[in-house]
Amino acid sequence: MLDRTLMPKREPSQRKTDFNEVALGYQATEAQAEAARCLNCRNAPCVQGCPVAVNIPHFITKIAAGDFETAAAIIKEQNSLPAICGRVCPQEEQCEGHCTLARLQKPIAIGALERFAADYVRKFAASPAATAATAANTAIAAASAPAPAPAPAPEKSCGSTGKSVAVVGSGPAGLTVAADLARRGHQVVVYEALHAPGGVLRYGIPQFRLLKEIVDAEVDYVKSLGVEFKTNVIIGQTFTLDELREHYDAVFIGTGAGLPYFLGIPGENLNGVYSANEFLTRVNLMKAYLFPEYDTPVIIGKKVTVVGAGNTAMDSARTALRLGAEQVTLVYRRTRAEMPARAEEIENAVEEGVILKLQTNPIELVGDNNGWVRSMTCIRTEQGAPDASGRCRPVDVPNSEHSIETDTVIVATGQGPNPLLTKSCSALSVNRKGCLIVDPQTGQTNLPGVFAGGDIVSGGATVIAAMGAGRRAAMAIHEMLTLPKAGVAAQS
Ligand code: FAD
Ligand code: SF4
Repeated sequence: MLDRTLMPKREPSQRKTDFNEVALGYQATEAQAEAARCLNCRNAPCVQGCPVAVNIPHFITKIAAGDFETAAAIIKEQNSLPAICGRVCPQEEQCEGHCTLARLQKPIAIGALERFAADYVRKFAASPAATAATAANTAIAAASAPAPAPAPAPEKSCGSTGKSVAVVGSGPAGLTVAADLARRGHQVVVYEALHAPGGVLRYGIPQFRLLKEIVDAEVDYVKSLGVEFKTNVIIGQTFTLDELREHYDAVFIGTGAGLPYFLGIPGENLNGVYSANEFLTRVNLMKAYLFPEYDTPVIIGKKVTVVGAGNTAMDSARTALRLGAEQVTLVYRRTRAEMPARAEEIENAVEEGVILKLQTNPIELVGDNNGWVRSMTCIRTEQGAPDASGRCRPVDVPNSEHSIETDTVIVATGQGPNPLLTKSCSALSVNRKGCLIVDPQTGQTNLPGVFAGGDIVSGGATVIAAMGAGRRAAMAIHEMLTLPKAGVAAQS
């Protein structure tokens, strides 16, 4: 059997000096060679591992045959953002983790193939919307794909249903709902608090992992379906949720989890301590890495310490390196096997020189007389008995306190839902973490006509999980709007 075709990437010494993309993507011959390894399994376990049930064997067969446009269109039937998912999904836990070949040798590089097909269309095809429509006309059979929430048929996009939907937030959840409902002929307006759409794809994930021109292209695709975007509008401030409910037949809330968690240790308010959210937003959205050309400074020291081990921590550490830090250390209280970041990004970070200081927990930040952070006091940990999550609880090792010299600290220990909208509408039911409570099948909140999905419901999760929630909510909204006497006004 053939070996997995590795996706080329830039040398660590070169890539850590700039913000250009690290992974280079397959050439056509490489993609076809990798696609040719697929066994086209009858039961398609890979599809069962995909939260939006892309017909993986079918699109891979098309790549193997050199029909890249149809491959991209097949993916787009279930996934409105393939160029993004091909780059950032945790494939090792999802489709590739379920691939039959994972047990025999290396799984098919499904993410790299998805990325290839989406990039091919973006670069060479006339228009993505046109390509999706072409694919629908080829009547693709999805026999082996269990599609819990199939995408709407594109041919329904012509002619309006006369119903309108407001979507709050333009991250992957909001973009998916907007695209699915627009394809079904509803009028959709997306309200976004920031000046550019995309959510975390825009302000969180750095350029070297996800080029902003790709986010632009995916947003343009959603616009091409007739969706209108209104940026710099904060629902809960500029307009209330009730105002949206009065003007639209349904509302979807996809406001994400943008509120950073802190460590709760002494010294956290010293100068030089950032939340990952602030740090990455300054760099990505406000282009601090181009200061003074762009008017957003970001002060980065020589010895940067990042706390956490998820994708946000990896992105912060690698961004700090690119901004000129001489040493970047990542402090995490558990083991490497328990790090939640994508495996590929951990590997990339280590190759670029990020130091992993595992089984270590910060207990205090110490500053100088001018209020700038100068060191982090830590304690070593060891694995204790399993906790409720099934993972070993980290237990402090007595008398193992020690100090790490540092002049910049970035806290990347998770994020919770932004309370702005939910606090402005006390009738919405939230749990003790501030996440909206919804019906998991439909995304319906306790308010008639108001649906929600993505990180605002689950807490910080993944792009594809947010898209899956958006897909289910779009189905439910469409059903509600097409029932006799449907709509918010009719129900309330
Ligand atoms: P978001 O993407 O957070 O979008 C919410 C949007 O709503 C934002 O644009 C926000 O400005 C807007 N908004 C908020 N409140 C209001 C309001 N009141 N009015 C109007 N608009 C509002 N996942 C992966 O699968 N792979 C990765 O590699 C990965 N890396 C990540 C790296 C970082 C740095 C971060 C922070 C997250 C990462 N994630 C990753 C997680 C993933 O990005 C999120 O799970 C996903 O973006 C959630 O989508 P969402 O649509 O629910 O919310
Ligand atoms: Fe191909 Fe793997 Fe899916 Fe089988 S499980 S169809 S080999 S991608």
